[in-house]
Amino acid sequence: MLTEERIIEIFKESEAFWAHSGNPQDSHAELSGGLCSNAYFNCSKVLCDPVTSEALAKALCEKLYNAGLENNYPDWVVGSAYAAITFSYEVAKRLGVQHAFAEKTSEPRKMSFQRVTIPEGSIVLQVEELITSLRTVNAVREAVGTQNESWVEFLPFVGTIVYRPPELPGNRNIVALVKREVWATSQEACPLCRQGSVRYRPKENWDKLIVKR
Ligand SMILES: [Zn+2]
Repeated sequence: MLTEERIIEIFKESEAFWAHSGNPQDSHAELSGGLCSNAYFNCSKVLCDPVTSEALAKALCEKLYNAGLENNYPDWVVGSAYAAITFSYEVAKRLGVQHAFAEKTSEPRKMSFQRVTIPEGSIVLQVEELITSLRTVNAVREAVGTQNESWVEFLPFVGTIVYRPPELPGNRNIVALVKREVWATSQEACPLCRQGSVRYRPKENWDKLIVKR
């Protein structure tokens, strides 16, 4: 059984999760968009291992069953591009249902859903790999809602590996294997920069972020 603690260990072993120690002298993370943050997740570094991906999908399905999936069994699982595609596929396989994914467009908040048609009245479960806000979840839902040729019904809950809202509990319809409160802010407003903590981009500076005492 993959507990939240064990999943965090797997992420750490894969250099896919880092969290600030709480000591203002220790360095913190610079995210790809330029914001400062007290934590960093990179699910792709874990999901590149198909065996781990399958194990995480199994663990998420167990959580989804506890959330009431049995009484609301989906006909399809829909994921988003790109990091969530393989993981949502694994979840669909585990549940024994069909799989599809929405794709990115040139517009940042718009997704497209053109590849397949989900049959009329199908029940759809959305699966992501990482959720911060509902922006991508809503973009996928809108793409399927407006571009799929027939009407489908979305389950109220969404499955994900990581949920990292600025404040927990956050949205209660998100079923996640790992939940962490994570803040991200501009450098000007960053409390750690103000206290003299140095920031690093985790991907390129992993060693500098790991505290050695
Ligand atoms: Zn900062």
